[in-house]
Amino acid sequence: MQSIPDAIALMLPCFSPRSAERVVLHDALGRHLSQSLDARACLPAFSNSAMDGYAVRNADLRGASESAPVRLPRRGESRAGGGLPEALEEGAVMRIFTGAPMPEGADAVVAQEDTTEADGVVELRVSPSPGRHVRARASDLALGAGLLPAGARIGSGEIALLASQGLVELSVHRRPVVAILSTGDELRDPGEEDAPGTLVNSNAPMLAAAVREAGGVPRVLPRCADDADVIEATLRQALEADVVLTTGGVSVGEYDFLHEVFDRVGVETHFWKIAVKPGKPVRFGMAGDVPVVGLPGNPVSAWVTFQVFVAPGLARMAGSLAPHPGPLPVRLAHAFERHPGRTELARAHLVLGEAGYQATLLSLQGSGSLPSLVNVDALVVLPAEVGSFAQGERLWALPVGNLPGRTVSHFTIG
Ligand code: AMP
Ligand code: MG
Repeated sequence: MQSIPDAIALMLPCFSPRSAERVVLHDALGRHLSQSLDARACLPAFSNSAMDGYAVRNADLRGASESAPVRLPRRGESRAGGGLPEALEEGAVMRIFTGAPMPEGADAVVAQEDTTEADGVVELRVSPSPGRHVRARASDLALGAGLLPAGARIGSGEIALLASQGLVELSVHRRPVVAILSTGDELRDPGEEDAPGTLVNSNAPMLAAAVREAGGVPRVLPRCADDADVIEATLRQALEADVVLTTGGVSVGEYDFLHEVFDRVGVETHFWKIAVKPGKPVRFGMAGDVPVVGLPGNPVSAWVTFQVFVAPGLARMAGSLAPHPGPLPVRLAHAFERHPGRTELARAHLVLGEAGYQATLLSLQGSGSLPSLVNVDALVVLPAEVGSFAQGERLWALPVGNLPGRTVSHFTIG
């Protein structure tokens, strides 16, 4: 039986980053760069004004102040999009607007608030240091400087930076295609007529959504009866994907055929059980370079083991260099008792308070309880040997999905 860290350490390297593909910029959101990029345009591209005001030569304004203003003639203007202005002659100022190119010869901008203009003459009441209110060419980013490293995740901010470079297309890691194969004689598809003893296959849509959340592309295969030949045929088809996930049939019952079928299709098994609750029966192996993960049939077990053992692998395949969300310190919002013996990953709702994250364990913790998958923010790690937990006790939690901030009904700062 694998410990949680051993299982993670063994599995993660088996999910190797996928090859590169070119995508247009707006399709790059959420993807990871397959190669580092250097600046091919400096930023700002030209020296420009950070304020509405007047472009000046600082030497012309030495000693200017509120009580001793300097008066200079105004010559022309520079506005954003208005092309390059004439050079600024000595002893004069030029009207300038935010984002407009600095005229040659000017070395500072005096903000409009510190000036008064009348009849072509501008009164200036400050003495700016050189560079004041000027966004100098290349001051943010030099030509050829590192723009983004390989593996960087593209968010909206990164898209802005890439767009500024005139990039239309870029190379990102391909998203892993994940085949999802559900097994069980009792399963029916949504919309299919109810029959005694059957239940709707909730694992397939759940895993398809979880795969998307983790950066993969789900491929849901037709569900399989508990029949080794049927499962084998579907599994062979599934092996065209980058990763195969199966659910059910991986325990020790007489209708648990996944072990036999994994052997038949040549899956080289790395381990079968993980010392974790929920989710002990997880079978992991490789078919060539395709990771094949036999997840438990219980939806909760399948969901938890996917989040902890599979999602980081998919993130790595999609090019992430930091595929694990780091464990968070939390405090239990309430006391809690349980039977010790196995490390448990308890579904929890987190609230961020003054003392950090407070974790409330969901009241249903059974591995078949689908309502316990609602509103889960994290899996709180209950150490194997501990049975009693006090209110306020400090534990570790594995965040799931987006971490909650403080929930408020209206926005304030401070
Ligand atoms: P198994 O791992 O095949 O022994 O299944 C364990 C439990 O999970 C049983 O109660 C099954 O009915 C249930 N189960 C298995 N597969 C699914 C599925 N795809 N959707 C919902 N429940 C399932
Ligand atoms: Mg079954």
